[in-house]
Amino acid sequence: MELRDLLRFSHCGRTVYRLEEPAACSGLRCPVCGQLVRFGLAEAPVRIRCPFRNGHHASCCFIMTSQQGAEGFREENQSELHVGVSTSAGVVFSYTEGGVTCQQQGWEQSIIIPLVAPGNDTLSSTTLWDKHLETFAHLDTWTPDRFNEEREFGSCCYGFALGFINHLMRSQGQQPISREHFTAQFVLPRMETTSRYLSVYQHVCRHGYHSID
Ligand SMILES: [Zn+2]
Repeated sequence: MELRDLLRFSHCGRTVYRLEEPAACSGLRCPVCGQLVRFGLAEAPVRIRCPFRNGHHASCCFIMTSQQGAEGFREENQSELHVGVSTSAGVVFSYTEGGVTCQQQGWEQSIIIPLVAPGNDTLSSTTLWDKHLETFAHLDTWTPDRFNEEREFGSCCYGFALGFINHLMRSQGQQPISREHFTAQFVLPRMETTSRYLSVYQHVCRHGYHSID
């Protein structure tokens, strides 16, 4: 499924969503009333960006994807999500039934959580990141036979990715972050934005637009 950005604006006393048109030189028409829409500066249409990114273009990130593509991020399907960590070159490491895999493809439609602050992504820090990730991936913890054992505690790929973040934090003398805290602060807000985008997007595709009071 090719996903696009959405446009949100107010008209007819409603909040209207429609697909972003690349060359709307003829002006923006309200799909509710069919009128050409003029905006004051304060009410310019807002672009809602598609939340999916290519994980292989995201360096040093926590990455979530689904074999079902974007569909896997709908609220009812979220149990099938898979998570990993990318290197500075966009190779994604993740823990699977076969042990740790390093993939250069397969994560093209992902939700990205950057873990290195912009400005902090110097060559030395990303080289260190890659080195730590390589070491961490080779630990005995991530063997294929332990995958099912770990599974009892929830998602094991999540354990690997978060374990790496904490491995890195400890190496820098920082306090590790708990699963609850990481999930609440970084993962859930993105999941909510994504499933909201998907439900509006689906409506827009079906009906040409979506509007709410
Ligand atoms: Zn209108």
